[in-house]
Amino acid sequence: MTVVRTRFAPSPTGYLHVGGARTALYCWLYAHKMQGTFILRVEDTDLERSTPESVQAILDGMNWLNLNFDEGPFYQTHRFDRYHAVAEQLLNEGKAYRCYCSKERLEELRNKQMTNKEKPRYDGLCRDRQAVGEGSYVLRFRNPTDGNVHFDDLIRGPLTFSNVELDDLIIMRSDGSPTYNFTVVVDDWDMQITHVIRGDDHINNTPRQINILRALGATPPLYAHVPMILGSDGKRLSKRHGAVSVMQYREEGFLPEALLNYLVRLGWSHGDQEIFSMDELVNLFDIPHINRAPAAFNNEKLLWLNQHYIKTSDPAHVAEELAWHMEKMGVDISQGPALTDLIKAQAERSKTLREMAEKSRYFYQHAEYDVDAVAQHLTIEAAPALTAIRDDLTTLADWSKEAIHQVITQVAEKLALKLGKIAQPVRVAVTGNTISPSIDLTLQLLGRARTVERLTTAIGLCGKEKVN
Ligand code: GLU
Repeated sequence: MTVVRTRFAPSPTGYLHVGGARTALYCWLYAHKMQGTFILRVEDTDLERSTPESVQAILDGMNWLNLNFDEGPFYQTHRFDRYHAVAEQLLNEGKAYRCYCSKERLEELRNKQMTNKEKPRYDGLCRDRQAVGEGSYVLRFRNPTDGNVHFDDLIRGPLTFSNVELDDLIIMRSDGSPTYNFTVVVDDWDMQITHVIRGDDHINNTPRQINILRALGATPPLYAHVPMILGSDGKRLSKRHGAVSVMQYREEGFLPEALLNYLVRLGWSHGDQEIFSMDELVNLFDIPHINRAPAAFNNEKLLWLNQHYIKTSDPAHVAEELAWHMEKMGVDISQGPALTDLIKAQAERSKTLREMAEKSRYFYQHAEYDVDAVAQHLTIEAAPALTAIRDDLTTLADWSKEAIHQVITQVAEKLALKLGKIAQPVRVAVTGNTISPSIDLTLQLLGRARTVERLTTAIGLCGKEKVN
């Protein structure tokens, strides 16, 4: 049995886009399912548009998503000698030829074809040239002039392209740089790729690549062309729709497992199942169940999945990610509750980790008093209850949620107040606002020193702010 080898082959001309991440995920999953090899190849031959920052952005994105590769990263710019050698071989075998046609001639040809409503294509003038021409030249692949190229796309099904439709593709430019379709062919061949899983924007390149592979005596890999991702308006997903870069999703507070789960389902299904662990996916993922139709990105569903994973993932792992957000916000987490405890307390009311981090500042920094909340809840009438609670908490032997709860209920009974009447002033006193986890848990997480200090500050504020 042949060993499956897949590759993700991004061009480093920007960040890692969610569409690219989904392709990488499919390649990764299929390789893992088949106990094969997943390769990362950086297609950086476009020297003007490729940047080291983009390479880093791709590596960072893959790393954050935990899509580790078994081989690579291979850089095409490091393989120019190899491309030249293969081009030379094709030239020597008469499967490629030198084309001396000037830019002007090609432009004229193109204009003529456009006016005649013909498909613009090279007319093959240099194909049978015997004499060596003058000036600079490009290398063109001698594409077959008749017959068809046929392949069974693993997603689209059987596809046939007529060779008459394909012209003689440039494989080397006049400056000696290889072109995309050629480097892909040489690499897929050298790297013994068995399954090319990529975006369907490459579908028209496939027959050209197959022809070159055949000319080299190579067996073409199998191809699976994945439909694109659309925005909510049905247009191709782009920046206009909001976040598209993987690392931007990190900044917005998504967990990598939520994004992966979302992306795998966006274009693939296993019955009605929505939630998949990576282990499950390695078992269940298959290429034939990738949808043929493009899928639209749905932010609400991603948020839902994210909250699911915030609630159910290993808290130590979620804590690592939350720590990253806290640090970015300039919050020192060394003084305050353990993040794992905080996550348990806040998961119900946080769809993203950024939201959680923003809602949790008061556990680590000072409480910022909201004027309206203070005016409404820190009243003259609230002062005796806050004072009694503060005093009892100061000497409370066991700083547990249960014991704190008991203090609050006892004070409420003593002062003949409803629990709700007393909990909200305490909440405003210690958090500065009206929303937090249950009051006993909030106090427990805050710790005695901060709780007592803030209650004292709040008692001083009681009755000072007037409701208008
Ligand atoms: N480098 C190409 C791209 O980023 C992908 C080529 C391929 O997968 O064959 O679109």
